[in-house]
Amino acid sequence: MASITLQWPDGTILPAIGQGTWKMGEDPSQRKAEIAALQHGLDRGLTLIDTAEMYGEGGAEEVVGAALKGRRDEAFIVSKVYPHNASRKEMIKACDRSLRRLNIDAIDCYLLHWGSNTPTDEIIEGFMHLQQAGKIKGYGVSNLDDLEMEAWWQHDNGALCQTDQVLYHLGSRGVEYRLLPLLRERRLPMMAYCPLAQGGRLRQHLMSSSAVVDVAQRHGVTPQQILLAWVIREQHDQRSVIAIPKAVHPDHIDDNVAALDITLTPEDIVLLDHAWPAPTRRQPLDVE
Ligand code: NAP
Repeated sequence: MASITLQWPDGTILPAIGQGTWKMGEDPSQRKAEIAALQHGLDRGLTLIDTAEMYGEGGAEEVVGAALKGRRDEAFIVSKVYPHNASRKEMIKACDRSLRRLNIDAIDCYLLHWGSNTPTDEIIEGFMHLQQAGKIKGYGVSNLDDLEMEAWWQHDNGALCQTDQVLYHLGSRGVEYRLLPLLRERRLPMMAYCPLAQGGRLRQHLMSSSAVVDVAQRHGVTPQQILLAWVIREQHDQRSVIAIPKAVHPDHIDDNVAALDITLTPEDIVLLDHAWPAPTRRQPLDVE
């Protein structure tokens, strides 16, 4: 078992780094490599796999299903329903389609992908129905800010929500101001997506930042590994943050596994905080 772990609300112990699947299942020529990547991640103990009906319009779930062949019990599967499929009736159909593509009996945690026009009571009823039918083991949300979470928790069975999956990396720390403390108060894990800031300019900016490069050199690791170690740096009572980088390249997967063993020193944290400061006021939730 990897070094830094966290305990999911249902008691499952998970490594604090999982595997993302956005962009998987889009290009048939990549399918073999993507399946092999997820299997390599499982071999190395990255047991949580995050997917969604949206990714590759079902293609990513099919890749996950193929990777899980004969080893369903090793994995903790998170998938997401489109907000426009979140009505009680459509959610059941969407979940059935996901289960078929994933080729499993139940999703471990089924998330609302982002805020929906469907009334929250109806969405939660849908999740409860799926749970009673044994098709999901728990439910959560994604891309809801602190105020939306507080409103969610007021609904019947709203407190059963297991997680909020949001964008979080060193260059985007807005959730630290209020959302993350609220989740911690309730001892709920936050799932950090785009922990490596995905493609684009901000990523380059982060990777070449002298603070990140210095800390990476001190530890003899890559800047990307420092970004991951930073995201999972604080685990309060084993319920805090799980990073879900997407990686297809086998070396990337091995590096991500190794990031679970990096302990940033107080000096590292000060250096990174100075270059990429924590928020001092409430900020809108970042989504890219
Ligand atoms: P990301 O994980 O920040 O970055 C992925 C990129 O980083 C890929 O190009 C990957 O390359 C590369 N990479 C991975 N590990 C690396 C390493 N150790 N060293 C160097 N490069 C590395 O971005 P993301 O895929 O957008 O986000 C992660 C996951 O979060 C998604 O896959 C998805 O599951 C989830 N997500 C959720 C939402 C939401 O709305 N809930 C939104 C976005 C993403 P290779 O693939 O070539 O290895």
